[in-house]
Amino acid sequence: MKVIRTYASVTLATLLLTSSCFATEHTITSNTETHEKDWGYTSDVSPSHWSELNKKFKICSEGKSQSPIDIVPSSHLNLPPLELDYESKSQNVIDNGHTVQVNVAEGSTFTIGDETYELKQFHFHTPSENNINHKSFPLEAHFVHATKDGKLAVIAVMFEEAKDINAVISKIWSKFPLKTGEKTELILTTEEIQALMPNHKEYYKFIGSLTTPPCSEEVRWHVLKKPLSISKEQVKQFFNIYGHSNNRPIQAVNKRNILE
Ligand SMILES: [Zn+2]
Repeated sequence: MKVIRTYASVTLATLLLTSSCFATEHTITSNTETHEKDWGYTSDVSPSHWSELNKKFKICSEGKSQSPIDIVPSSHLNLPPLELDYESKSQNVIDNGHTVQVNVAEGSTFTIGDETYELKQFHFHTPSENNINHKSFPLEAHFVHATKDGKLAVIAVMFEEAKDINAVISKIWSKFPLKTGEKTELILTTEEIQALMPNHKEYYKFIGSLTTPPCSEEVRWHVLKKPLSISKEQVKQFFNIYGHSNNRPIQAVNKRNILE
């Protein structure tokens, strides 16, 4: 199923929601008055043009800690286990024009040191944005967490193709909104949300950025090593929503340390 989207008729509310796949934390002012173009993944609004589309997107090209990256660990440490306390359900799923995003009710947290981050939403990219040891995956999920003062932490989960369908993914895909900006009710239980992460949560850790404009840095990334599985058909169903990939190309690691 290929859904045709019309960007010209989007409302202000839609623009606010479509400005970033991290829209919950980074709401950008509408660009309707200045006639700036919305960013995207193809042609003249593709990732190589993001920094030209809006002054606020400058860091997309100038930043030195941009995401995604090819994860090749530089330090092997005994990283502490991820302190996840997911206790809430999801509320709805929205097509924000760049990805399909599941919004989660308050009450699920991720603690790093003495900082507690709240799970806000999770969304998907196909193919994966990060690579692991030069390997790309057909789908990557980003669980976006924020502190009350707006610091961000992402947990990323890779999916690899297998024969069987992934039941939770199937439930999410069945609720895909038909129009950009449209929200559909989607109640996933705490257990279903937890099932979107592997039991073994060994991870790679590094500092990066949002992978979508405004490409803000200082995002704490945790990419889980163990992938989950998804069927080929499910990957295709997600791809067909946009008719193109929604992954930003790999960015330079520069002087960053990638911990394992
Ligand atoms: Zn993302």
